[in-house]
Amino acid sequence: MTTITPSQEQQAVEQVPKQLYIAGEWRDGAKGTLTVEDPSTAEPLCEVADASVDDATAALDAAVNAGPEFAAMAPRDRGEILRRAFETIVERTDELALIMTLEMGKTLPESKAEITYAAEFFRWYSEESVRIDGRYSTAANGQGRVLTMKQPVGPCLFITPWNFPLAMGTRKIGPAIAAGCTMVVKPAQQTPLSMLALARILEESGLPGGVLNLITASSSSETTGPLIADQRLRKLSFTGSTEVGRKLMAQASDTLLRLSMELGGNAPFIVFEDADIDAAVQGAMLAKMRNVGEACTSANRFHVADAVAEQFAEKLAAKMGSMKIGRGVDDGVEVGPLIDDDQRTKVSDLVQDAIGRGAQAVVGGSAVDGSGYFYHPTVLTDVPEDAKLLKEEIFGPVAPVKGFQDEDEAVAAANDTEYGLVAYVFTRDLKRALRVCEGLETGMIGLNQGIVSNASAPFGGIKQSGFGREGGPEGIQEYLETKYVAINL
Ligand code: NAP
Repeated sequence: MTTITPSQEQQAVEQVPKQLYIAGEWRDGAKGTLTVEDPSTAEPLCEVADASVDDATAALDAAVNAGPEFAAMAPRDRGEILRRAFETIVERTDELALIMTLEMGKTLPESKAEITYAAEFFRWYSEESVRIDGRYSTAANGQGRVLTMKQPVGPCLFITPWNFPLAMGTRKIGPAIAAGCTMVVKPAQQTPLSMLALARILEESGLPGGVLNLITASSSSETTGPLIADQRLRKLSFTGSTEVGRKLMAQASDTLLRLSMELGGNAPFIVFEDADIDAAVQGAMLAKMRNVGEACTSANRFHVADAVAEQFAEKLAAKMGSMKIGRGVDDGVEVGPLIDDDQRTKVSDLVQDAIGRGAQAVVGGSAVDGSGYFYHPTVLTDVPEDAKLLKEEIFGPVAPVKGFQDEDEAVAAANDTEYGLVAYVFTRDLKRALRVCEGLETGMIGLNQGIVSNASAPFGGIKQSGFGREGGPEGIQEYLETKYVAINL
């Protein structure tokens, strides 16, 4: 255990570039700067460049100009750039983790876990860059041949959220580089530092200028709107809220822009009476408390068989209630702050709404006094059907527990949402497990485990959690076009 000193914090922030990265050059933003805050103190951390529309257009110009040469680069060379970047990220895990914790709030061990996860996308796609293929086959009627080839989609725009400041970028950047696409990246304004540090690493790893262009901006819609309308852009990949995803999709309809949408979730966590309850509580801690509950995959509601609901809630409350709250840089801290005051107010309002309708707080139920945006880990029982937090994404350390009588009721309740990102199921009955997995309307399921994120697996949702997949062999297909050549033989 080491204690991070204020001067180490300052040094970590100072060494991150704060300018825009366009066409291989670091340059100031035409609109001046925007402030980045430490959510654990509510104090400013630093200033970063604030891009104008002209800066954003220059970034797209650079991506368009670099496109043909990068598409023609040997796949092995593109893979080697990713491999070098993977190794550098791993070497610099400690310093990257400190930057992430300072801007986002999560604990240092959690930041390190995200950095490992983020780096894995570069390792995976460094290997995939040399496995892009097509096919040659005989047409069904025997008359002629079918040739298919895979080609890079072209210039992409990536818009990413604050909750996983690095991994939400590498999940897009890794496969795009492997496929031979160029890009403009716009991270969330609350957490631009991790992505700026990543751009520097890619530069050092030999990524040619113009392939990745990074803009930070105080107005996302103003800077990205003109890019989405620009016919030279060929793909938008967005990770963020369903609300913003809908707006971007509407904008993208004018040019029929190719899209990937990684949106919000409302994950059900189902525990059957035959489950190993201690393992389910362990899984629940991961599914609920990872990232202080600020994850799209966060368990939003716990559906627990009536026979074991009380026991499950008590065990979960004991664990959540004993977690140490504090600044993420401090030793032994397990729960950092929420990202900002708006987020904390939203969590607080949802809990008050549930309590007002009859829910009981077994533990927690209030904000933490003092500076920073902390909220007590909370377990609610007797949650009524009409409580808003069963329908809305909580994005905080709050676990509502609700009983069910049988399997059909559990599956129906789990599916009773417009979202469809992930679900968690705990049971020891194999037939039931497979039946329930088939019945759940989600893109991913954690079966007897509280985490699904894995660079070698296709991450993504259905229904209003979006479409497209990130990770695994599927992830690179989002950046490839299929061209078919009809051959007269
Ligand atoms: P958000 O408000 O939708 O913002 C996400 C990104 O979009 C940010 O970079 C934001 O920039 C930008 N943005 C906001 N409004 C925009 C507009 N009108 N035009 C263009 N860009 C715009 O989401 P968030 O609060 O950062 O992140 C939390 C959400 O992300 C949750 O709903 C969570 O479930 C979802 N999420 C989904 C996944 C997944 O893989 N499915 C993963 C992680 C998070 P600013 O910083 O300037 O607002």
